[in-house]
Amino acid sequence: MARIAYVDGRYVPLGARAVRIEDRGYQFADGVYEVVKVVGGRFRDLDRHLDRLERSLAALDMPMPMPRRALGLVLHETWRRNAVPDALVYLQVNRGAGPRNHAYPPLLKPSVVVTVRPARFPTRAEQEHGVGVITLPDERWAQCHIKSISLLPNVLAKQQAALAGCREAWLVDEAGLVTEGSSSNAWIVDADGRVVTRPLDRRILGGVTRAVVLDLARANGIEVALRPFSVEEAHGAREAFLTSTSSLVLPVVAIDGRPVANGRPGSTTCRLAELYARAEELESVS
Ligand code: PMP
Repeated sequence: MARIAYVDGRYVPLGARAVRIEDRGYQFADGVYEVVKVVGGRFRDLDRHLDRLERSLAALDMPMPMPRRALGLVLHETWRRNAVPDALVYLQVNRGAGPRNHAYPPLLKPSVVVTVRPARFPTRAEQEHGVGVITLPDERWAQCHIKSISLLPNVLAKQQAALAGCREAWLVDEAGLVTEGSSSNAWIVDADGRVVTRPLDRRILGGVTRAVVLDLARANGIEVALRPFSVEEAHGAREAFLTSTSSLVLPVVAIDGRPVANGRPGSTTCRLAELYARAEELESVS
């Protein structure tokens, strides 16, 4: 079946030339985005994604392009027209089209684009054996809490990870502390058995999966420490994992080519992955 996108009020074939040349998303990366998953025909954590969208838009001095309920309907309708039960739904809202000028004119009509693709969640082998990451300097801007479509440093870091045969790049700040992955949040289990991830600040995106996993850990008596951790600590950690909407809770078994502990997914990671899968009804993951 042909894939369908939503572009500014119209449903068009994904390959259609529907974006305007002077679209500020295209010319300035002047916009924000969300990726929401649909599992078994149900949108997961949609409210948390729309909350974050509102925060990102506010940071760009942009209004919601339409009422929240209407946006939810557009997401559902675009997903429905693509007939993919397990999907990743991409939503971009940017400042709209106008004569090219860095400073933005007032009252531009925001552009809204929605696309849908079949979800490729981690395979059972990836879940069972884990994945590797490399560490790289975090060369992004100073407002990473905004889910900006300006992703060039993330793209370049992910490409380096792929060239190194790794799933992800963990980015490292000037103090040697891990911020997050190029498209995921970074976690370890420390020597005291606590699950550790960086507290929310402007150096990381507040992942929806991160928030869900923190809630699950606390509700299930798993001790959590919100603090930064260094590359050195990660190299010597008991366990490591990453989280994102599409990667779920994924064990990290090697960092910079060095095994994490015995090189196998740790028990706390597996427990959290299991809790997350159950909470999000991910039994269908193959
Ligand atoms: N950090 C970055 C930089 C990301 O791009 C993503 C993926 N959107 C995440 C973290 C994880 O966020 P989420 O759990 O909401 O997918």
